[in-house]
Amino acid sequence: MEDVLDNLEEKIEYAFKDRSLLLRALTHSSYANECRVEQEDYEQLEFLGDSIIGFVVSENLLVNHPDLTEGQLSKLRAQLVSSSSLFRSASGLELGRFLRLGKGEEKNSGRRKQAVLVDATEALVAAVYLDGGMDAARRFVLQQLAEDLGDILSGRFVLSDYKSRLQERLHSLREARPEYSVIDQSGPDHQRQFSVRLTIGGKPTARGQGGTKKSAEQDAARRALKKMGPITC
Ligand code: MN
Repeated sequence: MEDVLDNLEEKIEYAFKDRSLLLRALTHSSYANECRVEQEDYEQLEFLGDSIIGFVVSENLLVNHPDLTEGQLSKLRAQLVSSSSLFRSASGLELGRFLRLGKGEEKNSGRRKQAVLVDATEALVAAVYLDGGMDAARRFVLQQLAEDLGDILSGRFVLSDYKSRLQERLHSLREARPEYSVIDQSGPDHQRQFSVRLTIGGKPTARGQGGTKKSAEQDAARRALKKMGPITC
């Protein structure tokens, strides 16, 4: 186990003073129960880690994006602390390899479950915090979310991703994929306006405008979603 832990510490670029904290962050409740060892599982750490990630992300967004409104900051934070961002981080660390699971959970492919991996990532953040303090925890969180945070800075991260929402909606309705084409560009270079047509299964559905091709596509997707009305279950 020691070698394995060395390996994980290298990946997270943090060496624990108290390795029992690291072990706890890797211990699923099924292991603690089945193996009847005096070992606490990661659930309480996860509770703390969730707050730490929210705090670090809020702080970072506020410093780097003083121009955004509270509503926009909240939306961005929600996306950054979402399971999909944390799952990417867990996958990057190959965290599944390091988990301690009970037999049942092992058979249940627990090592590959998104929910388990996300929870363990949150627990790991809390373990780093308890062992090394806020600076160490902040470094770890920012390192894990670096890609997403960079996308926000470069404007590649759209506040509300209507294109993805439309795609998901159409997929659930078993409809064709949306297609976007630029039908017009006007204005001088520094103030260009793009017009985009959105077709679904060849049928023109909506048009959108924006200062970039991407924002015009988002605008078209937003209008198409509006036309489709609210989601009913
Ligand atoms: Mn959780």
